[in-house]
Amino acid sequence: MSDPQSRPIYLSKADVTELEAEAVRQAVLGGWVAPLGPEVDGFEADICDYTGVENAVALASGTAGLQMGLKSLGIQPGDEVLMPTLTFAATPFAAIHAGATPVFLDVETASWNLDPDLLSRTLTEKAKRGRLPSAVIVVDLLGKTADYDSLVPLCAEYEIPILVDAAESLGARHGSVSAGSMGDAAVFSFNGNKIMTTSGGGMLVSHDREIVDKVRYWSTQAREPLPWYEHREIGFNYRMSNLLAALGRAQLQRLPEMLSRRKAIRHLYEDLLCDVRGLEVMGDPPWGRGNNWLTCLRIDQTVYGVTTVELQQRMAKEGIEVRPVWKPMHRQPVFAATEAHLSGTADEVFTRCLCLPSGAGLVDDEIVRVAHSLRECL
Ligand SMILES: *Cc1c(COP(=O)(O)O)cnc(C)c1O
Repeated sequence: MSDPQSRPIYLSKADVTELEAEAVRQAVLGGWVAPLGPEVDGFEADICDYTGVENAVALASGTAGLQMGLKSLGIQPGDEVLMPTLTFAATPFAAIHAGATPVFLDVETASWNLDPDLLSRTLTEKAKRGRLPSAVIVVDLLGKTADYDSLVPLCAEYEIPILVDAAESLGARHGSVSAGSMGDAAVFSFNGNKIMTTSGGGMLVSHDREIVDKVRYWSTQAREPLPWYEHREIGFNYRMSNLLAALGRAQLQRLPEMLSRRKAIRHLYEDLLCDVRGLEVMGDPPWGRGNNWLTCLRIDQTVYGVTTVELQQRMAKEGIEVRPVWKPMHRQPVFAATEAHLSGTADEVFTRCLCLPSGAGLVDDEIVRVAHSLRECL
């Protein structure tokens, strides 16, 4: 290993051990080097156990899960789908691929997720004009759940289904339940930088067995249970491979350990930076306990003249990767003409907040190095 004092520090590097390597080796030797197999079934069952949601289907990516989720909720070309503007582009991309039109809404300040007051006003307005959206995608940004106690009854009032983009929130809690158990269906991502990984992969979960059965069918090439290849509908090749499911099962075993490490990292940042004027480590909203996927910092721009992008460049020179929060979708050139209902919060989060290296594999000395460099760069 290179010198820990100069080794690059990444934002959220996958934390993979001998346990995962052995699991993949066993899966390779087990004769199921195939798109599906016993590890896929096992991984789905493990995720059900872990989240308390009864049905799950393992998929090639979180993005595939969002596409399948919208399809399972009956989204048709021309439909409107409401979603927060502060998210990763995969959320609106899924709506576009369904032929639907995304509508962006701003976020609240406690969790940086979909603002229920703004949603309420937007739905009232749309109801008056006689055109309600066909679904709402709620995102659990940076591993903190949204304000479901307000959002769920509101959508129920208008009979609009909710798809949860839980790509970042596996392991988070919302009151007494797990992230992913709210809404009509929820999607996790196991991309390389997420809280746990299969290198690439996703999972759709739902209390509604019919939704998961439909998604399993479509994502397995809409193959009918007949001795020959029979198709009554258009399918997708969106399932997870057996080898990656083996990796996922081993990661899931280590998830509690990785969650505690990420939490310890956030607390260490809080301790190391609490005396710096104009810096604030983003905490949990009152309704839940986040998974601490990425620790985020709010930087008071009246105290420091430096922008988050300048800070990012300065930290990069020290070999440390920090990054602004997702650039809001209404600011993306590709969505310049898309309807958006804004309060300014997402823009403020984008310009003032910075995500710090938070990978479970980081040691205390590396966190100390990040905090030290941050002081210097400010
Ligand atoms: C990562 C992510 C996705 C996409 O998941 P993939 O598995 O990479 O396709 C979707 N939404 C959000 C909010 C994400 O962070």
